Amino acid sequence: MSFEIHAKGGVHTYDSFECAIQGMAPTCENCGVRIVGHGVDAGGHWYCCAHCARRQGVSAIVDHVGAATY
Ligand SMILES: [Zn+2]
Repeated sequence: MSFEIHAKGGVHTYDSFECAIQGMAPTCENCGVRIVGHGVDAGGHWYCCAHCARRQGVSAIVDHVGAATY
């Protein structure tokens, strides 16, 4: 049941998505959660959402809550 993830820096082999997330997902620099969605890249700093980015002084980021059509 193992699988490979080909990413910049090499090929990683895992036997669960949980292990892959733990091994590869970046960590929000504000709240510390693993970023498993798109996240926010603010000049090389990673945040899980616009709220966390703003808490760290990034002012140009806004969430698109309400824009979803589902
Ligand atoms: Zn966060």
